[in-house]
Amino acid sequence: METCCPSKNCQPKKRVLLKLSGEALINEGHRGINPQALKEIAEEIADAYRCGNCELTIVLGGGNIWRGVRDGGGVIDRVNSDNMGMLATVINALALQSALEEAGVPTRVLTSINIYQLAEPFVRRKALRHLEKGRIVIFAGGTGNPFFTTDSAAALRASEINADVLLKATQVDGVYDSDPKKNPNAKLIHKITYKEAIARQLQFMDTAALALCLENKVPVQVFNLHTKGNIKKALCGEDVGTIIY
Ligand code: UDP
Repeated sequence: METCCPSKNCQPKKRVLLKLSGEALINEGHRGINPQALKEIAEEIADAYRCGNCELTIVLGGGNIWRGVRDGGGVIDRVNSDNMGMLATVINALALQSALEEAGVPTRVLTSINIYQLAEPFVRRKALRHLEKGRIVIFAGGTGNPFFTTDSAAALRASEINADVLLKATQVDGVYDSDPKKNPNAKLIHKITYKEAIARQLQFMDTAALALCLENKVPVQVFNLHTKGNIKKALCGEDVGTIIY
């Protein structure tokens, strides 16, 4: 794979898991899938992927369509509501697969819930085989269990495939010492250990997910999804955002 990175210090990551919230597929304030937003994120990922010598896997959330706790509204029970959220991640994964293939990168969707007319079931060895063949692998269906989030799914899959890093693209520039949306003086943290992040209850990822990364020594890098070029920088090993190690 050719390297086209403008970065002087380019150190391509070997195996990467990129976690995107479902919000990556919409314009702010809207829900569902916005085709233009989908095209843009797919092109950015495809460009970043071509640049690095990495094996790329993706976990995409479903919150743009359905979030179990938020959207059940006391009418749909939690388990069914979470199951609907997991189905939402499959819808998003199929959309991203099409858009990535349109952008020229072969992609496979592996799901943790059985829906085999639409996507292959998740089998670790199968995922590794796809990566060997230069395909991007999208893990859909979350963990396959209610009461979890796609952050936990990302931490789980990253641990299972021995990812070198979990890249979490978010709405803000990284991890702050307090909520930057509420506190204008919140300070961006550049590096922090997992243990400190857990102890300080910094709200950038759920604690179960972070604990799994700690246990399996998967570093996490948090950066702003909306800053153009950030995915490429992160894939090429640049210090963008916050590193949790
Ligand atoms: N979900 C679940 N188990 C999982 C992953 C996800 O039940 O392992 C459900 C849960 O209801 C969640 C929804 O799917 O709210 C969408 O996932 P998430 O909220 O993590 O999406 P994101 O915020 O990343 O778009």
